[in-house]
Order: sequence, then structure tokens, then C-alpha cells
Amino acid sequence: MEKTFLMLKPDAVQRKMIGRLVQRFEDKGFELLGAKLTRMTMKQAEIHYAEHAGKPFYGELIDFITSGPVFAMVWQGEQAIAMSRTMMGKTNPLEAAPGTIRGDYATDKGLNVIHGSDSPESAEREIANMFEPGELLPSGPPIASRSNGLH
Ligand code: UDP
Repeated sequence: MEKTFLMLKPDAVQRKMIGRLVQRFEDKGFELLGAKLTRMTMKQAEIHYAEHAGKPFYGELIDFITSGPVFAMVWQGEQAIAMSRTMMGKTNPLEAAPGTIRGDYATDKGLNVIHGSDSPESAEREIANMFEPGELLPSGPPIASRSNGLH
């Protein structure tokens, strides 16, 4: 069972896409461990995108991601990281296949609707950057199979 950090970017929130995007991951069979509507601080944005510091698009990326509320989520599932990235589609909307989130909803490389962790290490770092441990259900067996759903 793997955990991933998915985040609906400010363009998705502004376009009122939260419901239909959350639906895709529920339909896929992932389980939501926590979620919140929040605005990334500059510090959170810099930590989140540290690997892109210095790249030509970095300034615009930080401006965009802090420009409005994001919907931050933690999901668990079998191979949740690779599967959610397949569902998201390629970074460049021109290359994102129809049927993927970016393929269906994005036309711009920067305003591309959704972020998803690319490795277990990134997921851990990105989750810790945006959530307190107490805001998340513990990961583990499918919640439906637990006695009361909470532990
Ligand atoms: N990005 C951009 N221009 C580029 C490459 C990336 O604006 O040429 C932005 C885009 O919003 C992307 C984010 O930077 O989602 C992070 O880039 P990464 O290569 O990690 O892509 P992702 O993992 O989001 O598909």
C-alpha cells in the first residue's frame, strides 16, 4: 500500500473542478487519508518545488502555485504514485493523452491542473510540508475493512 500527495492547483480550484477530480481517484479505488483547501505559503511552495529552483520557469511556477487556494490531498492505494501519474497525464498538455486529467482539462504547461508525487521519498516530503500528522488518517489496510474506519 503506497501513499501519494496529490494537489489540485489554483487553476483547478478556480475552475471549480475539485469535485470531478476527487471523483476520478475515488472511482479508481484509492482511499483518501486527508484533504484540505489551503493556500501555499511562499516557504511551502519553495520546499515543494525545491528541485526546480534556478530553472527558467521557477519564478512563474512559484507565483502561480501561491496565487490562490490549492486542494491538497493524501491518498493511499496499490502503486498509488505511478497510477495517479498515469491518470494525471504528461506535464506538457500537448503530450498528455485524452482521458488523462491534463489531457482532458489543460492547455498550458504551467497551468496544468494537478500535482502528483513522483516517488515515495517525494510523497513523504510533500505530505510533511502540507499536513500535520493529526490531520491524516493512518495508512494501512483499506479503511472499509477496518472495524470503525478510523484506526
Ligand atoms: N513546469 C512549467 N514549465 C516547464 C516544466 C514544468 O511551468 O517547462 C511546471 C508545471 O506546472 C509542472 C511543474 O512545473 O507541473 C513541475 O514540473 P515537473 O517536471 O515536476 O512536472 P510534473 O511532475 O508536475 O508533471
